[in-house]
Amino acid sequence: MTIVTSPDEMTRVAEAARNDGERIALVPTMGYLHDGHLALMREGRRRSSLLVASIFVNPTQFGPSEDFARYPRDFERDCAMLKAVPVDVVFAPEPASMYSPDAQAWVEVTEVTRGLCGSNRPGHFRGVTTVVAKLFNIVKPHFAVFGEKDFQQLRAIQRMVRDLNFDVEIVPVTIMRENDGLAMSSRNLYLSPAEREDALVLSLALRAARETHRKGACCAEEIVFAATRVLKRMKSVAIEYVEAVDAETLAPDPSMERPILIAIAARVGKTRLIDNTVLQP
Ligand code: AMP
Repeated sequence: MTIVTSPDEMTRVAEAARNDGERIALVPTMGYLHDGHLALMREGRRRSSLLVASIFVNPTQFGPSEDFARYPRDFERDCAMLKAVPVDVVFAPEPASMYSPDAQAWVEVTEVTRGLCGSNRPGHFRGVTTVVAKLFNIVKPHFAVFGEKDFQQLRAIQRMVRDLNFDVEIVPVTIMRENDGLAMSSRNLYLSPAEREDALVLSLALRAARETHRKGACCAEEIVFAATRVLKRMKSVAIEYVEAVDAETLAPDPSMERPILIAIAARVGKTRLIDNTVLQP
């Protein structure tokens, strides 16, 4: 496994691989890896002859009051996990090599980033789509793998690729959960044992949503109501949003005849967690 920190060097490696007829898959991450990330790596491995994992805590997607500085980092441990997959190249640039101090160009996807997390994290998705566009230009992948855990991010990237003609196939992977249902996340590390217990209410709320839908809910509001009722039982959990939106466009007031995304964001103590499920008509 090769470790590359320079964007130019990464591009040289990618170009040489393309010239040799290799198929490149890229799995972008912010590191502090868990089994959810590894599921993405295995999907990338299956499709490629050169598997590149990027580890980059991207400053431009964090708000001023967010956890950029204290975001968990453990490069040695991440590399050991990636080597076992096996990953071929770890691309781990420094922020200074990714962004000029006077950078002025951004990639912005408008409609699908407006609601849900976009309402509470101004600039977040612009940072995400910009860094992913840069990674695509640097790594030149045929495939890029993203988790449905960050469903709105996945949709934003799919729109970017479609609308700006990126020559990359986006491969989605379903959410990986702990045995008790908690969606895996690097931020779960922040949770105290008591908060870890309380955090289960997110997946329980989604289960209530699925159950209400299965029993023939008349409308999306009824499903959201069922999920919210479960979340509200846990006083230590502060709801940021519980929403039902069209799973394709992320527009509100979804039709029951189309797939619906039920998405939750909530704070457990100081930790912001997200989770979601898609209901098929
Ligand atoms: P992150 O390091 O949090 O930026 O995540 C990197 C990638 O891993 C993103 O595409 C996430 O959606 C994906 N991911 C994170 N957690 C999970 C999970 N529990 N299941 C599936 N994919 C995940």
